[in-house]
Amino acid sequence: MVLEQPKATLVWREVPKPQPGDGQLLLRVQACAVCRTDLHIVDGELTQPKLPLILGHQIVGTIEAIGGNGHSPFAIRDRVGVPWLGWTDGECAYCRSGRENLCDRAKFTGYTIDGGYAEFAVADGRYCFHLPNEYDDIEVAPLLCAGLIGFRAYRKTGDAKRIGIYGFGNAAHLITQVAIHEQREIYAFTRPSDAASQDQARSLGAIWAGGSDQMPPEKLDAVIIFASVGSLVPTALRAVVKGGVVVCGGIHMSDIPAFPYLDLWNERIITSVANLTRRDGEEFLEIAAQIPVKTKIEIFRLEQANEALDKFRSGKLDGTAVLKVS
Ligand SMILES: [Zn+2]
Ligand SMILES: [Zn+2]
Repeated sequence: MVLEQPKATLVWREVPKPQPGDGQLLLRVQACAVCRTDLHIVDGELTQPKLPLILGHQIVGTIEAIGGNGHSPFAIRDRVGVPWLGWTDGECAYCRSGRENLCDRAKFTGYTIDGGYAEFAVADGRYCFHLPNEYDDIEVAPLLCAGLIGFRAYRKTGDAKRIGIYGFGNAAHLITQVAIHEQREIYAFTRPSDAASQDQARSLGAIWAGGSDQMPPEKLDAVIIFASVGSLVPTALRAVVKGGVVVCGGIHMSDIPAFPYLDLWNERIITSVANLTRRDGEEFLEIAAQIPVKTKIEIFRLEQANEALDKFRSGKLDGTAVLKVS
């Protein structure tokens, strides 16, 4: 399924089978989960996609061929996961200081590299993950972005005991399970009067759930904002204790309105989370399999990708959309 230009529907196309270069894996795609970032790309809010583009950065595939001299930690027929971070230069100041997520020349799967809304994909083997056997192809796909980048956002909350989450979608579902496993308390904020999402959050173990127009019953140590709504930043600052941290977990957010300095005063912190490192992925997949973290999934066929994106955009998905390919 090919994006020819932003703000258009994806087009079903026969394209040549990609050839793996040195160190790359040729994958037969089994499943690919749909992420909110895919919507931001289709809707033109992320403005630098390669075009035409095959979307999809939560790919589960089996290896059909290994490019180059065949030296790889993987073998033919291994099952691997391909995340958003597709390539880094390994030599810039960020890469050399363990922050490859900030690499100046990074390339991203399903954005600046073709992704997994297709029968075949190639991926640089150095950025692929072995996947835990506890999960089947469909179940594990949503862990590869919502889980992984959500986990990075969660780790930014440090040792916070009381954690608020604004925007209770896929990432929040996954991270809530990790947080509760680690004996944190989750306070879930949904769209005002979205009682169904609040019930879901409580059933996952959130200690409190309410609308984003409400204040929590107690001040929070940290907040993660997964909703792409900038006005939630000042709201969240007012909900945290002195020294509390507000983590913006999305790749795109509407503008943040002006707010009084007093709301930031007393060493409150606002930060964002960009991309992921391979270490985030390894850590998260290990802990996810132990818990084990579960996802609610709605399955679509590859050719139904537009339908999946439309349902996502209009908030009508009942779980994470996963394209079943093979
Ligand atoms: Zn994503
Ligand atoms: Zn770099």
